[in-house]
Amino acid sequence: MPEKTGLVFFPAFDWAISPTHPEREERLLYTKDQLFEEGIMDLPEICEYKARLATFKDIARVHFCVPEIRAQVTEAHLIAAGGTLVLADALMNKEIKNGFALVRPPGHHAMRVVHGNRGFCNINNEAIMIEYLRKKYGIRKIAIVDTDVHHGDGTQDIYYHDPDVLFISFHQDGRTLYPGSGFTHELGGPRAFGATINIPLPPGTTDEGIHYVLEELVLPVLDDFQPELIVNSAGQDNHYTDPLANMRFTAQGYARLNARLKPDLAVLEGGYAIESALPYVNTGIVLAMAGLDYSYVREPDYRKENFIQPPEKMVYIKELVEYLKEIWKNRTSLGQQKQFHEGDFYEQKRSIYYDTDHIREQQWEQIRLCKTCPGYQMITSRGMYPYGTTRTIFAVAIPWQACLNCQEEARGYYQERIKNPQGLDFVYLQDKPHDIYYQFFVEKDCEIQIE
Ligand SMILES: [Zn+2]
Ligand SMILES: [Zn+2]
Ligand SMILES: [Zn+2]
Repeated sequence: MPEKTGLVFFPAFDWAISPTHPEREERLLYTKDQLFEEGIMDLPEICEYKARLATFKDIARVHFCVPEIRAQVTEAHLIAAGGTLVLADALMNKEIKNGFALVRPPGHHAMRVVHGNRGFCNINNEAIMIEYLRKKYGIRKIAIVDTDVHHGDGTQDIYYHDPDVLFISFHQDGRTLYPGSGFTHELGGPRAFGATINIPLPPGTTDEGIHYVLEELVLPVLDDFQPELIVNSAGQDNHYTDPLANMRFTAQGYARLNARLKPDLAVLEGGYAIESALPYVNTGIVLAMAGLDYSYVREPDYRKENFIQPPEKMVYIKELVEYLKEIWKNRTSLGQQKQFHEGDFYEQKRSIYYDTDHIREQQWEQIRLCKTCPGYQMITSRGMYPYGTTRTIFAVAIPWQACLNCQEEARGYYQERIKNPQGLDFVYLQDKPHDIYYQFFVEKDCEIQIE
């Protein structure tokens, strides 16, 4: 068994939304300094890897980028995503026992369709890594635990209809924080019911509350689900000093969470207290992943008495956990009830807002309800941009689990639309069983295969 923990650092010096934006390159500089100062990088248990570029094909396995991939990503995005792939390979080749990609820009707010930047994210690093692992190494069942203070709405969207990816997110209640979603009724589509679990926590929740959720809900559910790999979307913004949120989590709390969760791969998400939190939290997590003593990691201003959870908050959290445990236990029968009367397709309509780029998207999603497989998906999406431009796309997504009937049907719908693309700007086919990705440019009447 390999005993090393792999790390990738990529601070993306040349990419920021704006020079004063909280999601900027200094986020990782202090962490790197701290790890070097403490001598952690010299330990035999730690192994540093260099990031590489992800390919457009790696991105097309997850996203439909409008108007095309190169408009949505910079080299920094490709390296951040590529950094996770390096660790995925090292893990599968048994060079490391686990890995932590300390990369930015972050990704967990990037949904399947990408018209622009949402919540500082353009492409979803975790999903790109997971689809790469599935394609290259045949991994099927994966669990993602999102410990960022914000709801991982992008990751949830990408896996909402996939019964083989369990997505668990705990976060500050969406009524009090961006992106305003992640409620207990968001449980997955009809063919993946229960494979999405959201745990909205009250502002001010401390280590005690989060550890209760971990021990009583997250770990038992993971134990039932039996994933081949656990991925942690490791956002550090539950920290008590974070400027963008209102939680009371500490570096010790994060380290202990990691030690109990034992993720195979962790990917950095948010965390905007650049000096007061990130270096301590990340150091604690790295030590925990390496199986080393993290008990000495403490913020300079930490005082135990400031972190006592009010009893009424614990009562609320305990009830929430009981409620979600009941749903998890009965997920199969509840999911069957949901499919009743749906016909051939399950449909949902919604609007999505891109806070950073001020884009509004209207989406109509259809899921084929097949008796033998999780079905394919068709998405019609219209992006309304700030200066009055609109772009409309039609996308077909064939999951790797799709039966041959569904595969054929789905490819037929794509062919039909590229012959009759009225009202559309782009048509996409994400054909995972063949690992082939097409984009059709209506105006140029030209189809490209994404490599
Ligand atoms: Zn989260
Ligand atoms: Zn966050
Ligand atoms: Zn099918």
